[in-house]
Amino acid sequence: MKYSNFFISTQKDVSKDVKLISHLFMLKSGMIRQETSGIYSWLPIGFRVLKKVIKIIEEIHDRHNINQILMPTIQSADIWKISNRYESYGKEMLKITDRNEKELLYGPTNEEMITAIGKHYLKSYKDLPLNLYHIQSKFRDEIRPRFGVMRAREFLMKDAYSFDLTEEDCLTTYINYFKMYLFIFKKLGIPIIPVKAPSGEIGGSLSHEFHMIVDSGESEICFSDELLKKNLLDISDSELINIRSYTSDFDKIEVGKDKLIKKKSIELGHIFLFGQKYSKPFDLHVDSKNGKVFPYMGSYGIGVSRIPAAVIEKFHDEKGIVWPKEISPFQIIIINLLTKDKVCCNYTDYLYEHLKNNRLDILLDDRDESAGKKFADADLSGIPLKLIIGKNFLNENLIGVSFRNLNKEELIHKSEIESYLNKFIKNITHDYKI
Ligand code: ATP
Ligand code: MG
Repeated sequence: MKYSNFFISTQKDVSKDVKLISHLFMLKSGMIRQETSGIYSWLPIGFRVLKKVIKIIEEIHDRHNINQILMPTIQSADIWKISNRYESYGKEMLKITDRNEKELLYGPTNEEMITAIGKHYLKSYKDLPLNLYHIQSKFRDEIRPRFGVMRAREFLMKDAYSFDLTEEDCLTTYINYFKMYLFIFKKLGIPIIPVKAPSGEIGGSLSHEFHMIVDSGESEICFSDELLKKNLLDISDSELINIRSYTSDFDKIEVGKDKLIKKKSIELGHIFLFGQKYSKPFDLHVDSKNGKVFPYMGSYGIGVSRIPAAVIEKFHDEKGIVWPKEISPFQIIIINLLTKDKVCCNYTDYLYEHLKNNRLDILLDDRDESAGKKFADADLSGIPLKLIIGKNFLNENLIGVSFRNLNKEELIHKSEIESYLNKFIKNITHDYKI
């Protein structure tokens, strides 16, 4: 992409009410625009990040044979009356009445709808297990929508749902999602701590949340610091679900006594095993060798549109965002400092085409702007690698190479740049290109 063809509207001034650094950098770098309280548009550079997050999540779900569907945002109140959540969900639910006085709502989550879908199609034990997911907007009329897309009213969630014949099978499914989540966050470049969450009103249910530790987080978790040293993908299933880490509202913990430490965090995922909580009231049952069975279910959420904001909270400096390469809007930015010079223009065009042919996401800053503005914009938008073509190139065929996360610039000769970049290219996971 060439800057001259790309709509990036960096903003100098943003509202003084913006408190969170990720919110500030997302607005300044032109990733998002607030449309009304808690409701945002994603602009081109922001949408590229969001799409990379989505792609990683989709690829990993596909690999686990979880079927992708798309359920609507608008739901009928009828199904929520069956589960008794139409009234109990509270004011966060946006209720709508259509022209025929039919009660509808903008879905805050989809357990009811997925159970209705299951009831329609699942007839025999042979139809189980079934795993479905979608990535769709949710609406929750949050009491204090703030911090940008971190706590929005309309936001994008990945929510998966499982149906199993037995409680044991359901537990195995739950553990598979647990491990898959650890893998997803690893691929996204996000350090994550899974924690036990209170299991709610249904006995025997199980719930874990996936948090990223950061001082600006709205949540709080308690965990044993031994956990930080472990590779959680290597431990046994029972060790995994009995992990010594908890949300702060977990009632059995005693910080200090249990050698637990408390940290601020952001919740990025939540998995829940709820058994027959919905299949029973919906009378969703299948025929089995032992007669009629209500399937055991679980739900598994990831806050897709919260992820870019959370990553920025963790990875930034005073100049702007420092993206992990996995979800950066572009992997390399070529900055042409002498846009009026033919030699520099020809070379940057060549380099741009060459790297694009290597399936890299490249942004070429071909604008007629000052060097200061170009560097400031590149740093703000957090692209991992800058290639700088200017006076050094004109005089000595030298290209400036600067990594966003390191505070130095190297000069590499034109004849060596390809082999130098090959190392960088090898490091990039081609799978996750848009
Ligand atoms: P929170 O405790 O942050 O309010 P929650 O427990 O209500 O979240 P879940 O119902 O578990 O959220 O939803 C699954 C995921 O969706 C959460 O782990 C979180 O990452 C994300 N999420 C929830 N609410 C919001 C929101 N208002 N804006 C953006 N993402 C959200
Ligand atoms: Mg939650």
